Amino acid sequence: MTMRRGACPTLSAPMKTGDGLLARIAPAHGALTPEKLAGIAKAAGRHGNGILEVTARGKLQIRGLTAQSTPPFATEINALELGPVDGFAVEAGPLAPAQPLAERINAHVAERGYAALLAPKVSVTVDEGGALHLDAISADIKLVALGDGSWLIGLGGNGATAHWLGAGDERVAGDRALAILGLLAQTGGRARDFTQAETNALSAGLAPVKTHASRADAAPVGPFTMAAGESALGIALPFGQISAEALVALCEAVSDASEIRLAPRSGLLLIGLDGPRHDEVFQAAHTLGFVTDAHDPHLFIAACAGAPACASARFDAKALAAEAAAAGLPDGPFRLHLSACEKGCAQPAGPVVNLIAVEGGCTLSSVGTKPSERLRTFLIERGETLRAALLRKSG
Ligand code: SF4
Repeated sequence: MTMRRGACPTLSAPMKTGDGLLARIAPAHGALTPEKLAGIAKAAGRHGNGILEVTARGKLQIRGLTAQSTPPFATEINALELGPVDGFAVEAGPLAPAQPLAERINAHVAERGYAALLAPKVSVTVDEGGALHLDAISADIKLVALGDGSWLIGLGGNGATAHWLGAGDERVAGDRALAILGLLAQTGGRARDFTQAETNALSAGLAPVKTHASRADAAPVGPFTMAAGESALGIALPFGQISAEALVALCEAVSDASEIRLAPRSGLLLIGLDGPRHDEVFQAAHTLGFVTDAHDPHLFIAACAGAPACASARFDAKALAAEAAAAGLPDGPFRLHLSACEKGCAQPAGPVVNLIAVEGGCTLSSVGTKPSERLRTFLIERGETLRAALLRKSG
């Protein structure tokens, strides 16, 4: 039930955390039916601690499994016939249909057996743009549609930090992505480790595009139109977590949806509901504790798992996040990031104010923004309380 450092938790190899074992389920394209998602939530309630998460990358996580409960949990999940739920898969925007470029890369990785050779966290995003683009998602290889049939190729970062190699048509971009994956499979390394000479060689023959205009980040909350024209209603899990009971109740309330799709930023897209049902479904989701307002502060706070879920945690990051959200914080065009140890998990992209627990206290920092006076006061006060508690604990 253990895993090597840096590997990703899966159904067959869950990861040890502070509140037991954690399993991750990533169905193809994040697509589930209400019935199947309810089946997962019921199994999580029976065999885990009843907490499920949808991560910032749109993966489903089940918390609080044990060595004894994992095998029957896995059996129940396999009986739901979800298809492949772990291993390498290209990540694509949630509004887009299956993308030929993504399918080509997935097929190549499967044919060559690269999944066993690539470092566990190697990732590829294929981003067709639109309202729910993938600029906030970091990846070893980023492919971004430029709207004229060509694709921009970036290495080792998110929309703001990737090293952009250049652009090519779909065939050229696909060939280059496969070549990069081949190199990563040979070395077991990450794209960020390429030398300047290797990066220069990978740019050869591409049209020179070295920047990517940053796009406004949209929360997966509200009405959306899928690329194929279907309507979708987006809701999100507060700080990425929800109880099994609430998720089952949601699935029952939207049993007429054709699909529930997992989306980045802890979202669920309820696809194919009749327009007149939207208000009623939003109300039901809100009552169950889901985020239904795109301006809700819960969407602008990234909290790590914290205590008690993570054994390294120095404080309960989700409780502090709830306190901040209740106070209407953050109150500016930036995210608040709360991390219960130096590792800094859940670091969001873009302008951010960080409160990070360190040995004997907390550090407050900001990137690309300045905290408002109200947020600064709140964080300094809470930081002092946490520091006093941490000193008491270590004393
Ligand atoms: S930042 Fe530290 S405490 Fe928080 S989830 Fe990561 S390892 Fe755990």
